[in-house]
Amino acid sequence: MLDRPVPLRSYPPTNEDSVAVGIDLARLEHRETGIAVLRGGRLTLLTSAHSDAEILALAAIEEPNVTVAVNAPLTVPRGRCCLDDDCPCRHDPGTRSREIERALLRMRVPILATALIKVLARRGGALALALRRAGCKPLEVYPYATLRLLGLPTQGKRTDFGRRRIHQALQPLVPGLDHPEATEHQLDAVVCALTADLWRQGLATTVGAEDEGLMVIPDTAAIAKARVLPMVAESRALYHPSGTESHTSEPPQDQGTRVGG
Ligand SMILES: [Zn+2]
Repeated sequence: MLDRPVPLRSYPPTNEDSVAVGIDLARLEHRETGIAVLRGGRLTLLTSAHSDAEILALAAIEEPNVTVAVNAPLTVPRGRCCLDDDCPCRHDPGTRSREIERALLRMRVPILATALIKVLARRGGALALALRRAGCKPLEVYPYATLRLLGLPTQGKRTDFGRRRIHQALQPLVPGLDHPEATEHQLDAVVCALTADLWRQGLATTVGAEDEGLMVIPDTAAIAKARVLPMVAESRALYHPSGTESHTSEPPQDQGTRVGG
């Protein structure tokens, strides 16, 4: 264990003042929203919230160096004024998804079209507006895509075993993460915050279209170049000893949290 690779945090040095907030937004206020806060790359808060007011209060938006990442669609497909099925702005086919979703599908990362998760998308749009009004430009993220692009386990979030496996895989990447009892929404919030932190470090990129909406995902090439890969590789090796985990055999119902919450 003395020969452990240099941890992710060392490449490049993390700004100690930086705050990265992850929000795994639930469709409805009475369902659990996970919230994680990283300060200087270190997890300092992992909790759950319900109302929009509660979420905004926990999101540290008053801090000057905060980046907030939300797991929910924050924009609507180009040309649409809303996501209502009976509005004239709907012209099927072609107005259900955004370029974000089409790009992820081309990368073989399953995701539902925005119009298929309209309740979550409406709440996401409203939260994004509230964050912008507070002077904070939110990032749209998708924990399933982040985990998958980093080569970390994605399956079994609904079971104790699955959650602990993801928790353990995240630990080398998220100092301060020692929450084996974390809920699936809290784990997703950690992944959202990690994605925001990668973005701050120049280790993330976007998919989508500027005039429609962008999603932040890990930049695997930049991560490899920054030599953070040894740490990611260590996480992978713990969980995929053969290195041959098939991502294509995953059942559709296990495709992230945008379906459940
Ligand atoms: Zn409309």
